[in-house]
Amino acid sequence: MGEEEEQEEEQEQELIDRIASGELKLHELVRYVEPVRAVEVRRHAIEHITGKRFYHIGNFSLDVERAEKANIENLIGVAQVPMGVAGPVQVKGDFADGYYYIPLATTEGALVASVNRGCTAINRSGGAVSFIIHDGMARAPVLKARNSTHAREAMEFIERNRAKLQEIAESTSRYLTLESIQSWLIGCNLFLRFVYKTGDAMGMNMATIATDEVARFLETELGLEHVALSGNVCVDKKPSALNLLMGRGKTVVSEVVLTQEVVKEVLKTTPERMAELVYRKCWLGSALAASYGFNAQFANVIAALFIATGQDAAHVVEGSQGFTTAELTGEGDLLCSVTLPSLQVGTVGGGTALGTQREALEMMGVHGSGTPPGSNAAKFAEIAGAAVLAGEISLIGALSARHLAEAHRRLNR
Ligand code: NAP
Repeated sequence: MGEEEEQEEEQEQELIDRIASGELKLHELVRYVEPVRAVEVRRHAIEHITGKRFYHIGNFSLDVERAEKANIENLIGVAQVPMGVAGPVQVKGDFADGYYYIPLATTEGALVASVNRGCTAINRSGGAVSFIIHDGMARAPVLKARNSTHAREAMEFIERNRAKLQEIAESTSRYLTLESIQSWLIGCNLFLRFVYKTGDAMGMNMATIATDEVARFLETELGLEHVALSGNVCVDKKPSALNLLMGRGKTVVSEVVLTQEVVKEVLKTTPERMAELVYRKCWLGSALAASYGFNAQFANVIAALFIATGQDAAHVVEGSQGFTTAELTGEGDLLCSVTLPSLQVGTVGGGTALGTQREALEMMGVHGSGTPPGSNAAKFAEIAGAAVLAGEISLIGALSARHLAEAHRRLNR
C-alpha cells in the first residue's frame, strides 16, 4: 500500500470512528472528502456500525453529484430493483401514436408477464385509444382569517383579483400557467386549491413555489395568517374523493374493443365472463369496501412504471384510484376502458434525469422537454394509460378464466 493510500485509509477510519461516536453527522462528511468518496465513507461507516456488508448497495453507476443536488441526502448507494419490459403496446393517442415498450421495475413475479399478455390482447384488437381529459397539478394552502366574514371577504378579493394572482404565480417559472383557483371555507379557515399546467414536469415543486408566492401576497394584502402551504386539499399522496372527481396531474382515459376471438385465444375466457367479473369485483366489491379503486390492479402497473422512470413513487396513492369498465358491445365483443383521474407524471425534473430512469423514459421516446413543452409528459401519460389498461385486461381475464392461482403456482410464486 502506498503512502497516499495509507493516509486515505487512516483518514477514513478516523471519520468512521467520529461518526460511530456521534461526533460527526453523516451529512457533514462532505466537509472532509469529495462527494463520491463521501458516499463510500458513509456506507463504510454504516457497515462498521451494523457489522454488515453492503456490496450490492455500493455497486452503482449513478451520477452522485446530480443525485445529491436534486434527489437524495446521506447517499450510500442504490436500491437495485429488477426491470423488465412489456409490450410493445400499440397506442393511438393525441400525443403517442405507435408501438411502445413499457419499462417496469418490480419484484412482483408475474406482473411483467401479465402486462405483456394484456399488450398482446390490445395489439390484436387494433390498439388502445388513449387521451387526456384534464391536466392540472394542484397545491392548496390553508389560510386563517380573523373570522368567517373576513374569510368570505378574502374569497371575494381572490375572485376579483385573479389576474394579479396569476401574474405572481406565473412569474416563478417559464413553464407554469395558473388554470384555476378552487376555494372552500370552514369558519375562519380558507382553503385555496391552485391548479397549474406545468409543461413536461410533474409539477409538484413548481406548484409549491408558485403557490407560496401567491399565499405570501394574500397574507400581506389581506391580513390572513398563512398556516400551511399544504392544507391537505391538494391532495398530495393521500387517497381522496376530491382527486377522484376533480383530477390532479393528468386525467387519462384508455380504451380498447377486445374481439371475442382475442378474448378466447389470448385470455382463454369469454367477454360475458369478463364483463360480469368487472361488475361484481371492480364495482360492487369496491362500493362495498368504500374503495376509490374501482379497478383490479392499477397500483401494480403504476408503481413499477414510476420506479422505472423516476416518478415520485408516493404518487402511486393517487395513481391507484380510478375506474375499469368492461361492457358487451352489440356484436358480442368487449369494450374495456380505464380512467385514471390523478396520474402524476413528468419527463423533466424530479428523478427523471438519473441514468437508469432517463434510459427508461428514452425507451418510450419521452425523455426531457417536448416540442411544444408539455407534449412529452402528455405522450408518456397516454402510454401509461395503455399500460394500465393492459394490466387490467390481463388480470381480469385470468380471474375470470380462474387461471390466477394456477399461473402463480406454475411460476412457483
Ligand atoms: P422540478 O424538479 O422542480 O423541475 C421543474 C423545472 O424544470 C421547472 O421549474 C423548469 O424550470 C424546468 N423545466 C425545463 N424544461 C421544462 C419543461 N419542458 N416543462 C416544465 N419544466 C421544465 O420538477 P417538479 O415536477 O416541479 O417537481 C418534482 C419533484 O417534486 C419530485 O422530485 C418530487 O418528489 C417533488 N415533490 C415536491 C413536493 C413539494 O411540495 N415541493 C411535493 C411532492 C413531491 P423554470 O421554472 O426555470 O422554467
